[in-house]
Amino acid sequence: MPSETQVSIEDALRYINEALVQRSIRSVIVHHTWRPTAAEYRGLATIRAVRQYHTNVRGWSDNGYHIMIGPPGDIFLCRPLRRAGAHCKGQNAHSVGVSYVANFDVEDPADYPGLETGQRIVAALLQRFGLGPEAVHFHRDYAPKSCPGWNLKLDAYRDAVAALLQQATSGGVQVVLLPGSKVIECKARLEHGTTRVDLRPVAEALGYEVLDRIKEQGKVFLRPYA
Ligand SMILES: [Zn+2]
Repeated sequence: MPSETQVSIEDALRYINEALVQRSIRSVIVHHTWRPTAAEYRGLATIRAVRQYHTNVRGWSDNGYHIMIGPPGDIFLCRPLRRAGAHCKGQNAHSVGVSYVANFDVEDPADYPGLETGQRIVAALLQRFGLGPEAVHFHRDYAPKSCPGWNLKLDAYRDAVAALLQQATSGGVQVVLLPGSKVIECKARLEHGTTRVDLRPVAEALGYEVLDRIKEQGKVFLRPYA
């Protein structure tokens, strides 16, 4: 039964990493909806309306896109990744389709917080399928259309995705302590959609010493600094 589910970024990344996908994926193709625009976005109801348009009017079996992004950074899982999409003629068998609810021909990506959310999703897809930033394409690379809108530039988009990919694989993250927003810089790595950071710099910043000498299976001992 076709449907759509709104998920957190953590759940989206976990899904991307763990979903069973037997077809080979060679590209991630980025779209905008054009209509509805970002200004017309009404959350889940908008995503459902897109699916109903794709199924009832276009006659497709489900939403043509695999993942849709709403302007505030909302993430919706639509057509399952294991199934070929219906988003880019001639390219559907070996691609994943990600679509922003927006009309980036006239709307400004700089005013769209979800732009980076979509780039994180695209980066995670590249990572999952062992692809580099050059595997990111715009719909207009394959069709006489503006999609995903003339205000998005492919080179800049790929650069942003490459930076996120770098951050996810080898770079650092900042752990922010509240209140006061004290920042602890940590090395991080992405494993199955979960960001893992080393305990020691965080513990030390919190005033705890990590005791190496006391060894007990399955336990790490922290002691407040005297
Ligand atoms: Zn498109």
